Amino acid sequence: MALPRKILNDGELSQTGDGETHYDFDLFVIGAGSGGVRASRFSANFGAKVGICELPFHPISSEVIGGVGGTCVIRGCVPKKILVYGASFGGELEDARNFGWELNEKVDFNWKKLLQKKTDEINRLNGIYKRLLSNAGVKLFEGEGKVVGTNEVEVTQLDGTKLSYSAKHILIATGSRAQRPDIPGQELAITSDEALSLEDLPKRALVLGGGYIAVEFASIWRGMGAAVDVIFRKELPLRGFDDEMRAVVARNLEGRGINLHPRTNLTELIKTEDGIKAITDHGEELRADVVLLATGRTPNTKRLNLEAVGVELDKVGAVKVDENSRTNIPSIWAVGDVTNRVNLTPVALMEGTCFAKSVFGGENSKPDYTNIPCAVFSIPPLSCSRSQRRSGNRASKR
Ligand code: NDP
Repeated sequence: MALPRKILNDGELSQTGDGETHYDFDLFVIGAGSGGVRASRFSANFGAKVGICELPFHPISSEVIGGVGGTCVIRGCVPKKILVYGASFGGELEDARNFGWELNEKVDFNWKKLLQKKTDEINRLNGIYKRLLSNAGVKLFEGEGKVVGTNEVEVTQLDGTKLSYSAKHILIATGSRAQRPDIPGQELAITSDEALSLEDLPKRALVLGGGYIAVEFASIWRGMGAAVDVIFRKELPLRGFDDEMRAVVARNLEGRGINLHPRTNLTELIKTEDGIKAITDHGEELRADVVLLATGRTPNTKRLNLEAVGVELDKVGAVKVDENSRTNIPSIWAVGDVTNRVNLTPVALMEGTCFAKSVFGGENSKPDYTNIPCAVFSIPPLSCSRSQRRSGNRASKR
């Protein structure tokens, strides 16, 4: 028997200025990633009637592909960490030989097996996220969501049929997607989505960018034995982090044999019989089997119809919100990467929690952006004896 819904504790933030109008849902969320799932579950726990929609699942995203769990679970943190852990054993095995381990000359690595494990895990988590929603009483719709009025959403289902619902509050939680710089031949390159699902492990990889994704994928591929070049515009990778730490990371990457190209940009990619030829603005020509564009992400707002209903976006297309995650339209809110505040999963979770507490929990709760911890999964440094030897060699070359 269904339990009666709790009477909503309508605080000031829950008011949309429309009196006693009846709505199909108290809250309709577009996007079931970290922020959207958290906000909808917590709102339902506070007694709200919640609907959520999400695009169909696939490891590689597009404007019409997504999946419950979102980027972090399907094509971000989770699969990345599985590959990072897998790759870390390469260096450990190499080091182990210096510490008395007698390993056979040839240690085999099976990329397809690791990839299958990764796929199994994201499928498992996708199922868990769906169960989290249904256990909380949230109604999940599979399809593309669109805002068609200040209190009206439309969901286009997979068979093309359209559903229309009214909601007292609408929450946009559609995340972001990798952006591609406008370089001739950029279509030959991949983004992190494809990098997490490559059929074959590249022998030569080239990474453009010096941020989180660049450092992490360079580390993964190098750890698995590929020759890796990283091209970035600044003097050191990881802009925004402590300079001393950035220098240590750069040293570790080079110590593991990754070729860093600081103060460099890509000017063109050309397909050749021997893989992809990459030309830099220093006139260098590099060859690679795979070129990864790790040049930041862009908010997913294009197909939501937000501007038509009056929601303000900023110049990169992110939804503008106040400190309570509310847009300029009182009934429409946004959390997570789509707002381009601090684009990290735990931050989206915090924003989703604060939203639910403020709008349905009767407690004005604002996200706190001070002291946010973060981690970049870089290749570990070489063990002492080897790193000293390598850094000595490098210093003498310079
Ligand atoms: P980042 O913002 O971390 O880095 C982007 C990099 O691309 C910078 O080095 C930037 O250079 C460079 N860049 C941007 N535009 C161009 C261009 N046109 N040509 C050449 N280089 C360019 O973005 P990522 O793509 O690495 O990651 C996206 C987001 O995903 C991160 O902001 C992070 O929030 C999240 N993430 C978090 C992880 C974690 O928590 N461990 C892991 C992976 C991703 P410059 O510095 O010169 O501007």
